[in-house]
This record gives sequence, C-alpha cells and structure tokens, in this order.
Amino acid sequence: MDNRDIKQFKDVWVFAEQRQGTLTPVVVELLGEGRKLADKLGVKLCALLVGSKVKDLIQTLIYYGADRVYFVDNELLEKYTTDGYSKAVCQAVEKYKPEIIMMGATHIGRDLAPRIASKLNTGLTADCTGLEIDPEDGKLRQTRPAFGGNLMATIICPETRPQMCTVRPGVMDKAIKDTNKTGETIEIEVDISQKDIRTKVLEIVKIKRDMIPLTDADVIVSGGMGIKNAEGFKMLKELADVLGGTLGASRATVDAGWIDKSRQVGQTGTTVRPKLYIACGISGAIQHLAGMQESGMIVAINTNPNAPIFEVADYGIVGDVYEVVPQLIELLKDE
Ligand code: FAD
Repeated sequence: MDNRDIKQFKDVWVFAEQRQGTLTPVVVELLGEGRKLADKLGVKLCALLVGSKVKDLIQTLIYYGADRVYFVDNELLEKYTTDGYSKAVCQAVEKYKPEIIMMGATHIGRDLAPRIASKLNTGLTADCTGLEIDPEDGKLRQTRPAFGGNLMATIICPETRPQMCTVRPGVMDKAIKDTNKTGETIEIEVDISQKDIRTKVLEIVKIKRDMIPLTDADVIVSGGMGIKNAEGFKMLKELADVLGGTLGASRATVDAGWIDKSRQVGQTGTTVRPKLYIACGISGAIQHLAGMQESGMIVAINTNPNAPIFEVADYGIVGDVYEVVPQLIELLKDE
C-alpha cells in the first residue's frame, strides 16, 4: 500500500471495539464525532468490527450512525490479542483504504493503535480530546494534552494516510440512536493463522467493582484536599449512594493515598460528563476542570469564596464540607 498517495484514501472509520460481544461505550462517542467529520468531508462513516460471532452488533452500529459496517468474523479473534487484531485491522485497511481511523483510548485501543500505525507506517495521535477537519486540505487537526498536561497540542499527519487517532472516553458527544437508519455490511476475510498469534489468553478475570465506574455514572460526588483525610470519602460515599452515584477525586487526594487512582478526575485521570458533579473541598485547578467542566450541572462546596471551582459551578455553597454534606444527606434521605 502506498500510504503517500493520499487521493486513494477515503471515508472515516471507527474501530468498533467489543469485549465478549459487548460494544465498549466509547464506540458510540466515536460514531457521534465520526459523523461530524464524515459529513464535513462528504464521505461515508464506517465501523470496523473485529471478533468471533459478533454479527449481532452490526445493526447497533448502523442505528448509531454507521453508513457501512465492515466486519471480520474469525474464531481466532474471539479473544483480543495484539497480534491477531493488528493483523486483521491492517489487512482491512490495506484493502479498503480509509482516510481516518478513530479508536477509543481504552486499554485495547492504546495497545492496538500504535501497532497498526507502525505496521502501516503512518502517524498516530494518542489520547485526543478534540478533533477538527478542514475539508479544503482534508487534514485532521488532533488536539491532545502534551508536556505532562501543561499545554494542549494540535497535531496533523501531513503526508501519510490513514490519519489515526485514539480518543479519550467521555469527551465526545454520543451518537443518537436512530432505529430507522439503514446501512450496508461488508464481510472481510482475513489471512490469519494460529501461528500469527504469539500470546495465548488463558482466562479473563473481571475485577470486582464495589462502585459504578466514573464514566458510567450520572452523578459523581468528588472529594478534594478540603475533606482533610481518607475517612472523608466515607461521608462522600454516603452522599453518592443516596443520589445513586459514584465517588470521584482530585489528583491531590489520590497522591495522598486517600483513594484509588481509578477515581481521579481530570487531565491525567478520567474525563467525565455526568448529569450532576458535586465538588467537595476541591479548589478547581485547571487540570481538574479539564476533566469535569462539561458536566451537566456542577455544585461546588468550598470554604474559600474565591476558589476557582466557583467559576464553573452552577451552584456554589461557601461552607465547610463537614457541615454541608451531612445536611445534604439528611435532606435527601427525607425526600
Ligand atoms: P487543593 O488545591 O489543596 O484545594 C483544596 C480546597 O479545599 C481549597 O480550595 C480549600 O479552600 C478547600 N477547603 C479546605 N477545607 C475545606 C473544608 N473544610 N470544606 C470545604 N472546602 C475546604 N489534579 C486533578 O484533580 N486531576 C488531574 O488529572 C490533575 N492532573 C495534573 C496534571 C499536571 C501536569 C499537573 C501539574 C497537575 C495536575 N493536577 C491534577 C493537580 C492540580 O494542579 C491540583 O494540584 C489538584 O487538583 C488540587 O487538588 P485539590 O483541589 O483537592 O486540593
């Protein structure tokens, strides 16, 4: 494949990541963003589905906006392996030549995308938080945090195709489901054998979670250094439970060892967009705001009326978390 002959490449592809037959939530976000890019370029939005016995997912991808679904159905691809999936995706790309490939910046996407970019000898921008396309030059402007999150860099892939990016879960608008939407389906046969796959997955062990993951929650009650110690999260958990939500945290509390890193919201943590975000004793540093300022409604509780968190808050309560939160819990329990 001559990846410098840019004119051969067209269409926007979304890698439809699935695990054990369930689509990863970021796929719907990628389809939402991919639709905008495809419409600007006047090309098709396509999904690439790879796995074994995954045909049932095709209709869902079409309902969420895919004009065409390419799928690879091969029993050697039942479980994710870097070798197997990268080989399958590369063969699909070499055959159908997409102009843009988007993947989620999930564990699988972060593992797979660099392998594919390297095999195809093209560029990759990892962990994007913004994408723009200029139809005039067809170059994808890919924005991502750089230099440890201290500045935002916009990156282009000027000379080779496909233009590849991984996109952070939670930052793009989800595609809207339309059950009247129709689309085409193309099966891709890949040349792959057991000896191509150097790893063997013996068992998939699911981590037991006692709380809703940050990206799935409609309500997040998040704690900062203002809660003073790890015990403070117990009180916040009570508030989160009353609201049917989950716990979030600032990086400072994670660094202090008060809570697990998986709860960190922000530029170097998780980007969240819940319906309600309650920031308790969080100052509102730019790196924290970057991960939560798109929330539907933000409530901030802080003793300092000049804390920057109040600049993004819809409702601000100037007060001590240890006075305000217990009252909130009581009020909500009475409802
Ligand atoms: P503080 O800034 O110490 O704020 C504590 C707040 O609590 C203050 O506003 C104070 O007025 C208030 N308070 C004190 N007592 C009470 C009380 N009793 N009741 C109510 N309020 C009270 N941070 C993140 O969160 N996420 C990230 O992903 C992230 N990434 C980073 C990446 C880089 C490259 C860098 C340099 C920094 C990053 N940070 C991140 C750190 C960030 O800059 C801040 O240091 C951090 O967010 C501060 O956490 P905090 O708000 O909990 O603590």
